[in-house]
Parts: sequence; C-alpha cells; structure tokens
Amino acid sequence: AVTNRRKITEVKSVCCYCGTGCGVVIETDGVHLLNVRGDPDHPVNRGQLCIKGQTLAAAHVRTGRATRPLIRPKRGAAFQPTDWDTALRLNAERFAQIIATHGPDAVAFYVSGQLLTEDYYLFNKLARGLVGTNNIDSNSRLCMSSAVTAYKTTLGSDTVPCCYEDIDLADLYLLAGSNAAITHPILFRRIEVAKNRHPERQILVIDPRRSETAAYADLHLAIQPGTDTFLFAAMLHVLVWERLIDEAFIATHTEGFEALRRELAELTPGAVSPICGLSPETIVDAARRFGNAQAPLSFWCQGLNQSIHGTSNGVALIHLHLATGKIGRPGMGPFSLTGQPNAMGGRETGTMATLLPGHRDPNSEKDRSELAHLWGIPSLPERPGKTAVEIFDALAEGTIKAIWIACTNPAHSFPHLERATEALRRAEWVVLQDAWQDTETAPFADLLLPAATWGEKEGTMTNSERRISRVRAAVPPPGEAKPDWWIVQAFARHLGKALGISERAERLFFFPTEEAIFLDYARTTAGTDIAIETLTYATLDQLGPQQWPFTSGQSQARPFSDHRFSYPDGKARFQTLDRSRLPEPIDARHPFLLITGRLRDQWHGMSRTGRIPQLFRHDPEPVVRMNRTDLERRGWREGDLLRLRSRRGELILPVATADEVRSGHLFLAMHWGRRSLAGEGSNALTLAATDPLSRQPHLKHAAVRVEKCHLP
Ligand code: SF4
Repeated sequence: AVTNRRKITEVKSVCCYCGTGCGVVIETDGVHLLNVRGDPDHPVNRGQLCIKGQTLAAAHVRTGRATRPLIRPKRGAAFQPTDWDTALRLNAERFAQIIATHGPDAVAFYVSGQLLTEDYYLFNKLARGLVGTNNIDSNSRLCMSSAVTAYKTTLGSDTVPCCYEDIDLADLYLLAGSNAAITHPILFRRIEVAKNRHPERQILVIDPRRSETAAYADLHLAIQPGTDTFLFAAMLHVLVWERLIDEAFIATHTEGFEALRRELAELTPGAVSPICGLSPETIVDAARRFGNAQAPLSFWCQGLNQSIHGTSNGVALIHLHLATGKIGRPGMGPFSLTGQPNAMGGRETGTMATLLPGHRDPNSEKDRSELAHLWGIPSLPERPGKTAVEIFDALAEGTIKAIWIACTNPAHSFPHLERATEALRRAEWVVLQDAWQDTETAPFADLLLPAATWGEKEGTMTNSERRISRVRAAVPPPGEAKPDWWIVQAFARHLGKALGISERAERLFFFPTEEAIFLDYARTTAGTDIAIETLTYATLDQLGPQQWPFTSGQSQARPFSDHRFSYPDGKARFQTLDRSRLPEPIDARHPFLLITGRLRDQWHGMSRTGRIPQLFRHDPEPVVRMNRTDLERRGWREGDLLRLRSRRGELILPVATADEVRSGHLFLAMHWGRRSLAGEGSNALTLAATDPLSRQPHLKHAAVRVEKCHLP
C-alpha cells in the first residue's frame, strides 16, 4: 500500500466525508498531507473524487486543533492544559463517583459516524462491558436509524440488499428524499454515466424541491413534505390493481400482504393526490414505470429518514420491492444511503442504544448472553439504553449526570438547539473527545480530550454498500492528540481502578494495535449476517476493500439472492403503515414550511470543510431560499434580511430567490452554525419530535413565520 517516490510517500485510505466511501491516495512528506487524489484501484470510485474529496489535504490544518488535554478548573473558567494521566484519572474519578452514587445509567456516551470501526467497538465495550449501561448512542441516530428499523422490520435484519454494481445493471433509478447529485456525488456520477449510455433507463426523483438531482429526472414528483408513505402506498395500490405485483413471490417469500392489501384499498391515487400534492395521473405514471421496470433500484436518504414517520417511509418503499419480487437479484432493490463515512460501522459494531455488536439485540437475553460470553464477562446490562434525544432530555432532567461526547458536535447538529444546549449546561460533567477545540460544543465541555483525525489514524470504515475499506495514517497526530481507541482504552484502565474492577478492565481492554481490536470485533460477527470472522487487515491489504457477509472468504455483494430473508422462517414481512402527518403543520401564525438540506461543497457542521476558502466559492454565506412569487408578493428583494421564527427560536438571514423551492416553502442549508450572521444554524428552528420506532428526530421541517428585518 505504500510506495516511495523521491521523498514523497503515498498512502492509500478512504475519504472521510460521505457514505459513498471513495478510495483515496494521500501524498505526504510524513509531516503534511501534500495532496489527496482518487485511488484508481478502489472499486467504489476508480480514481474519481468530488470537490470535497479533492480538497481533503487542504482541510488538514492546525488551526483550531486540540493538541493537549484541556480541563476547566470550574464551570465558566477558561480551559487549562493538563497531561494525559491527570486528565484520564480525573475523568475516571468523576465517572466512578457518579456511577457509585447514582448507578451506571447516570452516565452516557454520545459518539459519531466519523469514528472508525475500531473506535466504535471500544466505546461499546466501555459502556456495555465495563460501565454496565446501554446509554450509548451515535449521531447516526440523527441520520439513518429509520433505515435500520425499516430493514429490520421488513427483511428481518439491518442488511442493505444492494451494491453499487447494481447501478450499472438497473433500468430504473428511484431517488426518494435523496439529493445524491450533491450529497453522494461519485455514486450519482455512476447513475449519470449509466443513463448517458442507456438513455432508455429512467430516473424518478421524489423531492419537494427541484433539487440538483431532480434536475436529472425523467419524472420529478414534487411531493408535499412528509407524505412519502402515502405516495408509496398509492403506487402499490396501482401495482396491485394493474396486476404488476408478483403473487408467487409474495406467497412464497413474504408474510402479511393480505392485511396490507386491505389497508391499501382506500389509498387510491385519487385519495392520496391532495395529501401528496401530486395529480392522480402522476402517481399512476410513477407506479407503472416502477412496475414495468425489469430492475428498479431505489435509493433513499435523509428526506425519508429524518421524520417522525421515517421508519414507515422506508418500509413503504421496501414494500414496492417485496410486492413485485424485485429484490435480491442484479440491478434491483431498496438501497438506503448512509450519510456519514462510517455510519454502517456503527450499526455493525452495535454502537447504538438499540443494537449490540453483530446486529444483536440488547433486548434479547440470548444475544446479551452470547456477547457476554465472547467478552468473557458474566453479563451485559439489561435495562434499555437511551437514544440521542432521550440522553439529552435525561441530562436536562438530571437523571443522566455525565456525558462523554466523541467526534461530534451536538451544539450544532441537534434539533431544537436551545433545549439541547440547556441540557449540556445542566449536566454535571461533560467530556468532549475531538480533534477540534473550536466547535460549538467545546464551550460546554469540562474536559477536552484531543483526538487524532483523518490522515493520522489507522482502522477501517464501512460504506453504504457494506464495503469495508482500510483507513491509514499518513502523518502523526499533532501535539499530544491520540487515536480515539487509545483514549478509550487508557481511560478504561483508569476507570477499572477507580471502580475496583481492574481485572475486568484488563480482560476487556488488552489491545496493542488497531488490528487486534478489529479481530476481536470480527469474532463477534461469527454466525451473524455480517460474518467477517475470517477477514483480517492482511486480507484487506491483499484483496482490497471487501463487502460483508464475507462467508467462505468471499465478499457477497448482494445478500438475499436466494430470497431467504433474515426472519427465522426466511420470509420477509409486510408492515402496517404510519399515516400520521407532519408533527408541525403550517398555520396562520407560522405560514411557511422550512425544509433543511445540504449544499454541494460543505459537509455537516463545517468543522473540516469550513476551513477551506475554495469550498465557499459557490455559497459564501448562508441564505434562506424563497420562491420568487412569495418574495415579490411581499415586496421583498434578493439580499434583504429576513427574520425566521419557529415556535422554538429565530434566525436572521439574507434571502435568495430560488425557483426550485415551491411557493409556501423555504430552504435552508444545515451547515452553518455560529459562523452565520445569526450565530446559529437551522437547528435554532427545528423540533425534537422523534419517530416512535427509530427514535430519529424530525430534522427536515419546521413551521416558521418570516418578516423583513431592519437592523438598527
Ligand atoms: Fe468523499 Fe463522498 Fe465525495 Fe466520494 S463522493 S469523494 S466519499 S465526499
């Protein structure tokens, strides 16, 4: 993987932004990242990179980096530098004191889809194995947990049944709640290439906005926000009526269709039309295109997931594939895209309150016992853990006293920010483990542990198509920053001493290298649908990135090819649908519906992309985008400052004319936080309502009122 060329070394790794998972070659002099280019040998991108990947070297800056452990002598005081031993000992003492007084569920861990699989796994061992709490959740809860529950309830496991190769083989691409042209650009490029070669292939896009992706569509369904379940149900109604379903497949490989068929009877295109804001003819057209395709491939992302009925949205889309039998074969299937680079790794290692390693279930006694046996400890905690929003609510209530936040920035990314930041203020002890010390969350931390970041650490990540790639270090971390797994392991040994359970800590945390952690994790996947127990770093080095399941030493690109699903009887399950509406519809006081989304050149909270001037050329400032008719009707002009108010907060932003936004809607990118004029981002306005099954927050919409703002 490493070749010398003069004094420059080349290191192969994988991009740290989106879940596409492009391979990169880092050119380094051992101190700096000199350049990053696409890896021509990586099967995902074959040498291509989008603008974010191309500028990765420029993002590797020292400005804002955390390079020493920092502690506040008291709340509100400035950080003081300290050494690792002192920082970890103090942290262990605080955790031990809270655990001894209030029990293990008085602490919580909030981690990130940016962590590597090895980091994730050790955090999980720390929470479940050593502390004895299920209070561990990931910021992936904010991004794709609804896809997890949709897959689990229909297919029986969180197994993505598709791969990127299917793009080359499909004859219809349905993109729902996904602006993949800018959020997963290299993946979308593959769709574009396929469409250019085969113009007869169709692209259907479901999005309230005429997004960059919708601009490519043969049919754009500009749906009313939050009504996707209704649309998919009405499409299935048409497929049933026009006999475009596969009755034999349904009878042999599924359960529950008759109950759904009865539910669908009233969900006609005519009945659903006013709900979705689409004509009955358009719904019929979409259904026929889907039903007549030989190989439909359906992608979905945050537009479906970040909803109080996110699970139902995913389920209703999966139903289309199950009812037509278009799943498990080349070119077809329901394909959830992951937002973060290693969201999938968090799902596999079970580093979420509702999961255990190897897709085990923390509510299953058998699964807990199995894992306890593998870890060599008597038992795992039984009490259900709290998910992301619940953790912050418990902090505010005082039932959780301490939180350890790793590699994420909740004071930017959490819904209803005022409520989330108040929770951090009320917490007794906040630990932030991060590469950066200038994020919105840092001011709330009592202790800051400096972490190595991308380009400085070793491990693995898994992309949207279940492909595991090696992540490699090209330079050492700055100052005293350490890899995340090192911090967790060193802390665990301190905590073991403080709690008087050193022997257990030594048994759980014995890892000399990242690969030793990977192998320990891989062992937990034996007999599960992940099955990577024979996969090693050496195999990844020799064969390149591999997909799970990895049974018989071979990647399996397309699970369920035998149409045997993961329920014990091998049959998939149709589910009843959640027909609830938006949690906060517009009304006379809040007549606009704000839609949040992303821009091409920025990534999440901008902690990395926000440091690269080149990435501000297209969108230098945050603006609220408004339909021209709405703007002109009020006598406002482009550039005017508008005050947006929701029931929770307000923002002041310049307005831009946007014909892609429908009248009555507004669009705001979620990237800017305190860098914006308002000092806050879209989450000053969003609400913290969650899907009852996935517990994913409804981050996509909020009802707002808008007025022109006259600054003094
Ligand atoms: Fe990185 Fe995603 Fe762009 Fe690929 S498509 S270079 S993974 S941001």
